Amino acid sequence: MIVCIRKKIVIFAILIIVAIVGVFGTYFAVKEVGYSPKTEYTVVIDAGHGGIDGGCVGKNTGVFESELNLAFAQNLANQLENLGVSAKLTRNDGNGLYDSSQKNLKKSDMKKRKEIIEDCNPELVVSLHMNSFPLSSCCGAQAFFKKGSEQGEKFAQCVQDELGVQIPDAKKLAKVGDYYIVNCTDIPSVLVECGFLSNPQEEILLQTKQYQTKICYAIACGIVKYLNFSN
Ligand SMILES: [Zn+2]
Repeated sequence: MIVCIRKKIVIFAILIIVAIVGVFGTYFAVKEVGYSPKTEYTVVIDAGHGGIDGGCVGKNTGVFESELNLAFAQNLANQLENLGVSAKLTRNDGNGLYDSSQKNLKKSDMKKRKEIIEDCNPELVVSLHMNSFPLSSCCGAQAFFKKGSEQGEKFAQCVQDELGVQIPDAKKLAKVGDYYIVNCTDIPSVLVECGFLSNPQEEILLQTKQYQTKICYAIACGIVKYLNFSN
């Protein structure tokens, strides 16, 4: 009888230990998942233009800026997700974001982008564009930020530094840019002009998957660098 009771006590003790280990194991596992970078940071990636607004056009190939912006945005989103940062695209197809029943489509389009940023409340915003200039020799990627935004400037310079290291023709300094998408929020935001469609060499380069990946990798590194500095 005594032996039997001892046996029961031992089994009971083992069950308690298993239960404790199980509870703590689950707790730590949940905690670990909770701290995973995948759920920690979100970046809104805005592919500029779309729909009836094609943006600037490649002089030799006739490529629309809006198409390239989307390819860059999807590429950047994939790279960020691989680095454990959540990415939310403002558009994931060729359509604009405007309400066709509205008179001013551009205004309606920009308003929708602002709404997406507000709904998502991300840590950062990156808007992707292609540049154009009458002087065809102008080239190089450049990041722009909202005037007076200290964090926006820091973020833009992180992106610019990485572009400078990885892309030979990139500019050295980020610049103030008077763009709605960076002005519409206090969340640190950059608008990246990835290159010039008015430059014949860049017009070709910007359409290659390899160059798109290279630029997006530099932007992703800038994003991670800023997140590491600011947190
Ligand atoms: Zn543009």
